[in-house]
Amino acid sequence: MPADLRRGDHHVHSTFSDDAVSTPAENLDAARHAGLEVVRMVDHVRVSTTYVPDFLAAVAALPAVEGLRVLTGVEAKILDVTGRIDAPPEVLAALGRPGGADRVLLADHQLPGPDGPWSPRVVRERREAGLAAADVVELLVVATVAAMRAAGRAQLAHPFSILPKVGLSEEDVSDEHLDALAAAAVATGTTVEVNEKWRCPGPRVRERLAAAGVVLVGSTDAHEAGDVGVYRWVGA
Ligand SMILES: [Zn+2]
Ligand SMILES: [Zn+2]
Repeated sequence: MPADLRRGDHHVHSTFSDDAVSTPAENLDAARHAGLEVVRMVDHVRVSTTYVPDFLAAVAALPAVEGLRVLTGVEAKILDVTGRIDAPPEVLAALGRPGGADRVLLADHQLPGPDGPWSPRVVRERREAGLAAADVVELLVVATVAAMRAAGRAQLAHPFSILPKVGLSEEDVSDEHLDALAAAAVATGTTVEVNEKWRCPGPRVRERLAAAGVVLVGSTDAHEAGDVGVYRWVGA
């Protein structure tokens, strides 16, 4: 694991997310104290979210810190196997444009099914009813590839974090699935997180993606300023 993953934190939540406690200014201060070169301010959205302009304005109003690049993002779940993303269409349309968020963080908070998101409980029930592990992974990979293509400017948040919640692991992900994910990430310029909070993806996935040319970035998924840039697992 190259040490430079820890020089950035590409996934930091603020009070614009209802489950986080620090302001963007507090997170900026923490990033400076941690000596980071890059911090990406990210908050949770759904299709109905209206706060994104206020969030982007708050980040834009932060004082400049020498040597620290501040980026933005919105985190949204992948809804179904066609790659629909749970974010306001105008936010997705503005990605990378002046006044828009820089990237959308695509999250596997639920399993993107053919008919919409399946909660971990639903996935476990379907597994007990005979759904194969490979089919669960197939849904996730196909949906993620489609979402990357739809978004254009994405970052994969904590890839495969759903698997332990449904009784599976990265060992259930085939090399072919990883190669499909990597090819789509490279083609779309999608970055992939190595996520401290969820401790994923593991070494096999990271190495295979990196070997295919995928850009990996470090992230803590901090929900309070004290966790910004604090890595125990990433790079250890
Ligand atoms: Zn998440
Ligand atoms: Zn997050």
